Amino acid sequence: MGELVNLRLPRTIAEAEVAPGTFLFPGRYEYQMREMKVAEENILANRRNRKNAAAINNVLQACMVTESVDVMELLIGDRTFALIQLRRLTYGDEYAFKVNCPACQTRFEWEENLGDLEVRYLEDPGQAAPDHVFSFTFPKTGRTIKWRLLRGKDEQKLAAARRDDPDGLVTFSMLLRTVEIEGEKAVNRRFFDELPGSDAAAFRAEVQAKECGVETTIVVDCPECGGSFDLDLPIGPDFFLPRKKARGQ
Ligand SMILES: [Zn+2]
Repeated sequence: MGELVNLRLPRTIAEAEVAPGTFLFPGRYEYQMREMKVAEENILANRRNRKNAAAINNVLQACMVTESVDVMELLIGDRTFALIQLRRLTYGDEYAFKVNCPACQTRFEWEENLGDLEVRYLEDPGQAAPDHVFSFTFPKTGRTIKWRLLRGKDEQKLAAARRDDPDGLVTFSMLLRTVEIEGEKAVNRRFFDELPGSDAAAFRAEVQAKECGVETTIVVDCPECGGSFDLDLPIGPDFFLPRKKARGQ
């Protein structure tokens, strides 16, 4: 929790490793992490565990050297950052995975350097406080919403919504962030279902501008047709499969 406000912030995941194993997180605190031990690798080598958020959280918690950190309370941007750093610490920067070109349907292997991913920091470290709320006025309806950043404990709810009600995910994630709307704390999904589209878009832009995290949209070039396309870095079940062992090759 240093006074980092006036220092230049790191730009990339690699630069955010301010000393070996010590990282300046997107929420702007420094935490120390260690690489996975074999027992933890074995947990994630089990395909069922790799799909299980609780198993991943347990491993992440075990690899947090800074004891005060509760991964369930980490901002979701910090959690993504921690997962990427854990993979870098254990297997290095090179991450290879298979992709399909949307233009010519060719399937090929793409290698991304995780260290090059850009980090977005909170504007102000005070915004990471558990009770911090942001205030935003919807441009069309003129109503004011108080909202908060999402945390590790919200991630499981989001994952369940992604699985059970993908069409309602946008509404659900807005509802999850909501603390109150003009003093009313009991907000139900009808409020967001009936919100004008332009107000919803403005709110999403506000959330995106305030949230911290890692830029995980990457640009991939197809070796077959030469086209480029955007892809969300796959931080899924195979993210912790070791394909290259050596660190810093
Ligand atoms: Zn192609």
